[in-house]
Amino acid sequence: MFDTSIDCARQLDEKDPLKNFRQQFLIPAINGKQQIYFLGNSLGLQPVRTKTYLQQELDKWQNYGVEAFFMGEQPWLHYHDQLITPLSKIVGAHPHEVVVMNQLTVNLHLLLVSFYRPQGKRIKIICEAKAFPSDQYMLETQVKHHGLNPAEVIVEVSPRNGENTIRLEDIQQTIEQHKDELALVFFGGINYYTGQVFDMKAITKAGHDAGAKVGFDLAHAAGNISLQLHNWDVDFASWCTYKYLNSGPGAISGAYIHERFHNDTSVPRFAGWWGYEKETRFLMQKGFKPTPTAEGWQLSTPSALLYAAHKAALEIFEEAGWEKMEVKRNLLNDYVWFLLEDINSRQSEKVIEFLTPRQPRNCQVSLYMLKYGKTFFNALSDAGVMVDWREPNCIRLAPVPLYNTFEEVWQFANILQQILQQQVQHA
Ligand SMILES: *Cc1c(COP(=O)(O)O)cnc(C)c1O
Repeated sequence: MFDTSIDCARQLDEKDPLKNFRQQFLIPAINGKQQIYFLGNSLGLQPVRTKTYLQQELDKWQNYGVEAFFMGEQPWLHYHDQLITPLSKIVGAHPHEVVVMNQLTVNLHLLLVSFYRPQGKRIKIICEAKAFPSDQYMLETQVKHHGLNPAEVIVEVSPRNGENTIRLEDIQQTIEQHKDELALVFFGGINYYTGQVFDMKAITKAGHDAGAKVGFDLAHAAGNISLQLHNWDVDFASWCTYKYLNSGPGAISGAYIHERFHNDTSVPRFAGWWGYEKETRFLMQKGFKPTPTAEGWQLSTPSALLYAAHKAALEIFEEAGWEKMEVKRNLLNDYVWFLLEDINSRQSEKVIEFLTPRQPRNCQVSLYMLKYGKTFFNALSDAGVMVDWREPNCIRLAPVPLYNTFEEVWQFANILQQILQQQVQHA
């Protein structure tokens, strides 16, 4: 269904039911030249409406002062209610299992206070090797906080020698092997570097079978792939909203806590007044009484400005519809593979190794450049194609369904094609 012509790319764009959603975003332009932005996995683009939504909250602040918590069309006190329904669809949870609060690493610490409870022999944590640094530091310092030694407690599952990604069977086996000492299994939903999608359902089952709690960092998964946190029986999760969820730099984060814990008094937590039972919060009484939902994990007064930016972004997800986004995401991803494998196949030696597995698909593709890596990256920059470069030779790109086009993917491949032709001419 694909060929390598630019006409094919243009036809795919023409037939794309989401093609108009690009106009809902502000595309970066450098020196007047619109960029090809493949960094939605790092900082999603700004929705056009975000400015208006922020302005509305500034106006409320201006007009009502503190009374804006209670007055106007969307009083700040109830603003959160509008966010959790669209968000719960994105992560596959009940609305009352979702809370919008804080930032990702902060939330992970708070969730580990509740769900990492080392006791007796059960002290170990199983996680992925080479997790995002913040997650590593979070685990390390949580373990130390309990007076334990990270080197003894944290068990990392690595790819096998000569392989780039981690096999599910190795995760399951590691869990089985440590099952009598296991307190927690904590993984990313998608590895930030390799783009590997982990089988969260199977990992959750293996962790539970071993008597451990299971949680996920969904920074690269939320707004990217389908999630079924509740049905997979995941205990807890958190994500940032500035990557695929387009809610702005340092945007407010989200967390999921399975409903079975909401009224479980054996699960400890660090509390603040914003998690107190809503009806009686402002009586300011002694003794913490949690809201009996995920909101009971909130601590502090949230920012209406961050809520507004998040709402602007979530609305676009609702309008586009998740199913259409999935179809386009997969098609974009297949198209990247088609064009790059075609290039590989026409060289005497491969130029690209895919770090990201072919399946299951997600927006991100991580490429290990066997040749011409830096040349390619520089040519991309010169042509206004924004991708991520990781030493020594990794290019990560993430065409996203809401604002990227097939023609942009074609341009990316075409730049590599041109470099290869030049190399031949120079040889
Ligand atoms: C982006 C990312 C983070 C960032 O955490 P913040 O607290 O939002 O700065 C953490 N973990 C993973 C896996 C990420 O991809």
